[in-house]
Amino acid sequence: MVGSFSRPHDLIEATKRHAEGKVSQEELDAQLEKATEATIRGEEAAGLDVITDGEQRRSSFVSFVGDKIPGFKVMHITELNPEGLEILKRNKVQLTYMRAVVSEELKDAVIARDEYEKARKYSRKPFKVTLPAPYLVMWESWHKTHSKEAYPDPEDFGYAYAKLLRKEVLRLKDAGVSFVQLDEPMLGDLTEAGDKPDRYRRVFYELYGQEYRGFKEELKLAVDMLNEVIKGVSGVKIGVHMDRWPNKDSPYFDLGYERFLPELLETKTSQWVLEYTSQGTGDPAKLVKEFPDKVEIGLGVINVQNYEVETPEQVVARAERVTGSIEPERIWLNPDCGFAPGMFRTFPRDVAFAKLKSMTEAAEILRKKYA
Ligand SMILES: [Zn+2]
Repeated sequence: MVGSFSRPHDLIEATKRHAEGKVSQEELDAQLEKATEATIRGEEAAGLDVITDGEQRRSSFVSFVGDKIPGFKVMHITELNPEGLEILKRNKVQLTYMRAVVSEELKDAVIARDEYEKARKYSRKPFKVTLPAPYLVMWESWHKTHSKEAYPDPEDFGYAYAKLLRKEVLRLKDAGVSFVQLDEPMLGDLTEAGDKPDRYRRVFYELYGQEYRGFKEELKLAVDMLNEVIKGVSGVKIGVHMDRWPNKDSPYFDLGYERFLPELLETKTSQWVLEYTSQGTGDPAKLVKEFPDKVEIGLGVINVQNYEVETPEQVVARAERVTGSIEPERIWLNPDCGFAPGMFRTFPRDVAFAKLKSMTEAAEILRKKYA
């Protein structure tokens, strides 16, 4: 899995009722535990080689850090800009309304190790834990008024967060996590930027007042911040995940992450976990053949938008877009993205598990064929 998995109905209900004061913390904790166990049991049944807890305990894949690290303040989007809701509508962008904004100097704290410790008893397989990457968090959480006193520039904040993230990566490694994935959808979205920013950076500029630096500068900053997290870390696999939302009217339709070459290859990551099933995403073969030795691709072979379960043969065909360009040992299969990056995103759990099963069946076919 990339990371997140849809939450069971009972957990979503308990979360809503807890916010209204109608469900106790103990009851909510019991639902969180049940959801974690059920998700991991489902992953085991689907035959996954690497387990995640499905981010069942997170409100959203990024804003949960605001609840974990001291220094953030949760604010409504209209407090950031009174026209926040109109800005989203005008740009056709969906964001959660409650935003974690940095308002004081950050302090080191556990971000995800606690979640892992609650999850690992349900499986003996290797675990993956996801963390929001610094370039993403810099764009998501630095506000020109609310953050300026603590961090005069967004870059100061981004690097401060990167340093804390590195400590958490080391804690996760010491706790026994096999694979840490840094989520960087904000960098993925840069595939739609050029002289002008893409719509996400446009929206964040309007909401937060952070300015677009230009394509190459943004790319270099993202890579440098990733390396600030990863430098000197060994003994744990580090992956970076990016999204890709091709837009038919865009000049970048049919181009993918190869737009980030060669700067992207400066990232000291061991795996790129990438979205590739949508039309117009670009050719993964072009990208992977440039990868340095040993760098792996986590290839998106399962669509997380539609509810049609792929056949194993369809998945095999998607994987075979790269088998001629990189050694089979360096190809991992995964869905395009998380099934539910925010806790209220609905995606039927049974459909998602069926998709995962198709993926593991495809992996079996491919292993036999390329052994
Ligand atoms: Zn994603």
